[in-house]
Amino acid sequence: MHPDLEALLALQEKDQAVAAVDEALQGLEPEQRTLDEALAAAERALEAARRGVGEAGRRRDELEGKIASYRTMQEQRRQRLEWVRGAKEASTLMAELDLARSVLAKEEAEFLRSGDLVTEAELKVLEVEQALAKVREGQAAQREALAGRREELAAQRERAVAERDAATRLVNGALLGRYERIRRGKAPLALYALHGDACGHCFTAVPTQRRVLIQRGASIEGCEACGVLLYAAE
Ligand SMILES: [Zn+2]
Repeated sequence: MHPDLEALLALQEKDQAVAAVDEALQGLEPEQRTLDEALAAAERALEAARRGVGEAGRRRDELEGKIASYRTMQEQRRQRLEWVRGAKEASTLMAELDLARSVLAKEEAEFLRSGDLVTEAELKVLEVEQALAKVREGQAAQREALAGRREELAAQRERAVAERDAATRLVNGALLGRYERIRRGKAPLALYALHGDACGHCFTAVPTQRRVLIQRGASIEGCEACGVLLYAAE
């Protein structure tokens, strides 16, 4: 085997170890997302419930203001009625007073209902707060376990990267550059074993001359079609 090839294969092995840890870290994401989404939904529900209290309160205050101004107007009509002289004008005022009284009664009933709606909205907030607390409580153990696994994998990754860096020091500079360039390309790996008389990655036939060089370990040859480095498996 070509002397540099051993170092390259060792490096590739370390890169695969880093990739495996990365994949394991990625594997934690769906569980994390599920937890986050459930929590976010419960938080949104609480925000909505709190907005509901605000809206119900504003509606009640609005009605309160309206009723106060109706009452003032009604009082003014009563005062005018005391000073009025003509019978026609008096009866018009009386009719107005009657009409306004029934409108006021309706508004007052509406005001009572609006107060009930505020109470209802406040109870809803309490209920949703409890539901949110329950979600948090229910997730605590799972979140802790997840954080523990992530921490463990992060430490593993740190070790794997350090080993990877150590492995690069054993590869000659030009070859390392070539290896890194191939890694940035489309092939999942930079080195592939010959597959019969073909490239182990793209399965394009390798000319006999070059295959012999590879098999003898005389030089490190790249595939003419896909560019990966080729070696002869033991
Ligand atoms: Zn190829």
